[in-house]
Amino acid sequence: NLEQKVEVIGNDELTNLAHAFNMMSTKLFQVDQQRKEFVANVSHELRTPLSAIKLLSESLMYEEKTAVETYREFLKDIVLEVNRLDKIIESLLALVDIDKGKLELNYEITYVNYLLEKLIHSLKPIAEQKKISIDFICSEKIQIELDRIKIQQALTNIIHNAIKYTPEGGKVDILLYSENDSVTIKVKDNGIGIPKESLPHIFERFYRVDKARARSTGGTGLGLSISKQIIELHQGEIEVTSEVDRGTVFYVRLPKNISIRS
Ligand code: ADP
Repeated sequence: NLEQKVEVIGNDELTNLAHAFNMMSTKLFQVDQQRKEFVANVSHELRTPLSAIKLLSESLMYEEKTAVETYREFLKDIVLEVNRLDKIIESLLALVDIDKGKLELNYEITYVNYLLEKLIHSLKPIAEQKKISIDFICSEKIQIELDRIKIQQALTNIIHNAIKYTPEGGKVDILLYSENDSVTIKVKDNGIGIPKESLPHIFERFYRVDKARARSTGGTGLGLSISKQIIELHQGEIEVTSEVDRGTVFYVRLPKNISIRS
């Protein structure tokens, strides 16, 4: 048991030490609990697609005279589950990378406009499949220092979600504007929205509002936790407001100056 406590008596240096020890002990205990929970979640998330693959392939194996179409259908499902496993592992590696590279952001002076234009362009084909229009509005060129690859990853997750959780024919508006000390990227969709009780949890690892729906959209529940960590590594912040059946708005705020960051 990690949570060792010592009795606190009096009000001298020893007592302060005892207090410090107890606080450290509680923190260690919490970290250990989180680690255990994370390992349990990872195992569960990996096992779900694996079980499906097992079931699908075994039923093909033991079925006599399977029609070619059935084969194809089952194989298609197997490929879907394999892709899912691949995505989970990719996200897990991204998390490991973030944890490892906490102090190693590769800051480069970047036009946020161009970065956004580029990543919107790469998401356009997915949006077009659902006839979702993406509008990007920005009235000025905004240049700040950031880690391009990481911020691109963070924003892609958010904009991809806006597309994923918006029904056909919907709309995603992206706004970039500058305030005194910060730059804000606002991503607004008119999609399914997030229930109030789920809002505090959406940045947690593996949290999904609707597991069944997330599975069909290929969600892993890791995207937003990765985005949040990346944004916070940049000393920025992320906020969300949402209304069920009306839509969701994400605000990403990044500081403009290095002096603000340090
Ligand atoms: P996922 O891979 O499941 O999309 P995320 O970590 O990116 O995982 O998001 C966590 C959950 O938050 C999603 O499963 C979804 O329920 C909810 N969510 C995120 N973005 C939106 C959005 N724009 N509209 C509605 N729900 C969203």
